[in-house]
Amino acid sequence: MQQELRELYQQVILDHNKSPRNFRKIENPTYFLEGYNPLCGDNITIYLLVDENNLIKDISFQGSGCAISKASASLMTSMIKGKTVDEAKKIFEKFHHLITAKVDEEVNLEELGKLAVFSGVREFPARVKCASLAWHTMIGALEGKGEKVSTE
Ligand code: ZN
Repeated sequence: MQQELRELYQQVILDHNKSPRNFRKIENPTYFLEGYNPLCGDNITIYLLVDENNLIKDISFQGSGCAISKASASLMTSMIKGKTVDEAKKIFEKFHHLITAKVDEEVNLEELGKLAVFSGVREFPARVKCASLAWHTMIGALEGKGEKVSTE
């Protein structure tokens, strides 16, 4: 990856870590679920407000974790808000492919928008779970899993 691009991506991650978006609790959420990544100690709860047309009216998160896990939750919530549940699942699939692709594999970064900032994560396998924690937790919440989700 180009050096300039890498630095830009790093800045976006640091910014979202410092000022996370949608970092709050939703009262009376349709779904909520706590996710835990024991490898790093990241602990994130996702709250979702979904209407009868499967539209995600609001999404937020709370918890503590490393910069990557927090930035990922922050970017995820700002990207998913206003989307339908099906759209959210499709974005998750693209994101998951991005962070688990082989290092030399070409990934279409344009269709990922801001999520492209996590394209460097695949070079650090231990960080993949940090980046995907919020996403797995969101999907688990939408599927009505009542228990805590663990990346293990
Ligand atoms: Zn982490």
